[in-house]
Amino acid sequence: MTEELFATDAYARTCEATVTAVTDEGVVLDRTVFYARGGGQPGDTGTLRWEDGQARVADTLKQSGTLVHVLEGDLPAVGIAVTAEIDWDRRHTLMRTHTALHALSGIVFRDYGAKVTGGNMEPGAARMDFELQTITPEFGREVEEKLNAELAADRAVRVSFLPRSDALADPDLIRTKVNLIPESVDPIRVIDIDGLDKQADGGTHVRSTAEVGRVRVAKTENKGKDFKRMRIELGDAD
Ligand SMILES: [Zn+2]
Repeated sequence: MTEELFATDAYARTCEATVTAVTDEGVVLDRTVFYARGGGQPGDTGTLRWEDGQARVADTLKQSGTLVHVLEGDLPAVGIAVTAEIDWDRRHTLMRTHTALHALSGIVFRDYGAKVTGGNMEPGAARMDFELQTITPEFGREVEEKLNAELAADRAVRVSFLPRSDALADPDLIRTKVNLIPESVDPIRVIDIDGLDKQADGGTHVRSTAEVGRVRVAKTENKGKDFKRMRIELGDAD
């Protein structure tokens, strides 16, 4: 199993590691700072360097539970020591985007009682789907104001690992369908935005909501009954 350093330290940009397997898709390392795509967050990109070579990591994904770095160009051999480095600017933007989405879902549940039914993100932009009966541009502006107020409040964002039985008993986590997580997953990783939102989540987040900066609601869409979509963008995304 690969030690997933990003799970406990989202700010780790680089690490030393050893190649443990080479597959058709790329390489497996004994430890890594590369997040594998999942939960709506894209996989990390970056570089692997070793004594007499280097390769671009074009994507990171999981294949049958194994974390694979998808490489362009030469592949290092099994047993080789590598330095793994993520594209930090892209990842940090994804961390800000991901935390913004969790804050959004916390506000929409708290103030309008609507659950999230889906979501996806790219660096600086994201969409989230809600079980809302109606949605209007005015609603979007109202939510945008609340979202920016909550982000500016500089709420701490904490990572913890809860025994599965505790997670299943937590009403805040039940609303985000923690019971749908495969039974083999124990403990369950939880992202807690202090006083605003708590979700079982594997993604990478900033330490505090102020680090997200300003966010705008770019679009509100009616996709059907109880299926309304909001698109958000980070203030500095273009
Ligand atoms: Zn998430």
